[in-house]
Amino acid sequence: MRLRNITGSREVIAESRFVIQEEIQPQCPGTWKEIFRNDRPIHIEIGMGKGKFIHAMAKQNPHINYVGIEKYSSVLLRALQKMELEELPNLKFLRMDAEDITKVFGAGEVDRIYLNFSDPWPKDRHAKRRLPSREFLARYNIILKKGGKLEFKTDNRPLFDFAVEELEPAGWKAEVITYDLHADEKLVEGNVMTEYEEKFSSMGNPICKYIIYR
Ligand code: SAM
Repeated sequence: MRLRNITGSREVIAESRFVIQEEIQPQCPGTWKEIFRNDRPIHIEIGMGKGKFIHAMAKQNPHINYVGIEKYSSVLLRALQKMELEELPNLKFLRMDAEDITKVFGAGEVDRIYLNFSDPWPKDRHAKRRLPSREFLARYNIILKKGGKLEFKTDNRPLFDFAVEELEPAGWKAEVITYDLHADEKLVEGNVMTEYEEKFSSMGNPICKYIIYR
């Protein structure tokens, strides 16, 4: 997903009513109920890419508020185009690096976190940048409410093994672990495929998934 230089994407984002603009972000912690004008649960996808998953989830679950987070403007632009075609009141977007996630959500403000096909950062010295790393789990620990859950899917087995190994030192526990989601009749029920999931499962790659809590 390398669409970083689409001309005008920053300008489109700056004018989009679907995006919480960067200058507003510092005011967001503790105010998400006001942003959505209701007190429904808040689910976020970090590294949402072009937004297929979160748009479908928001459409299926109007009783839940969704926030899609993406670092790159040119990728976020694709998610905005989906919203232009089909606007959903329960879906907002943030263009930001998830390293700063605790600056936009207050303590316990998020009910569920989704990580889908996160970038693997294969070099050891980049392990801290992996979204399921213990460093990120510590950030999620702050914003996720008590009893909240985090779901992670990937076809990248080394990344998944790393993510599972990070759980204990970070103080999290697995409720569910599968190394072949699509072959598990029960777990796959209601599964919404992401862009990467469609691509890699069609190539025959098994999809790993965990659901974790602390
Ligand atoms: N979740 C989508 C899917 O499954 O189809 C996209 C997967 S893509 C491999 C990973 C996405 O995460 C990219 O769009 C990338 O820009 C975004 N990303 C990676 N690190 C991020 C970070 N620290 N903060 C926000 N987005 C990030």
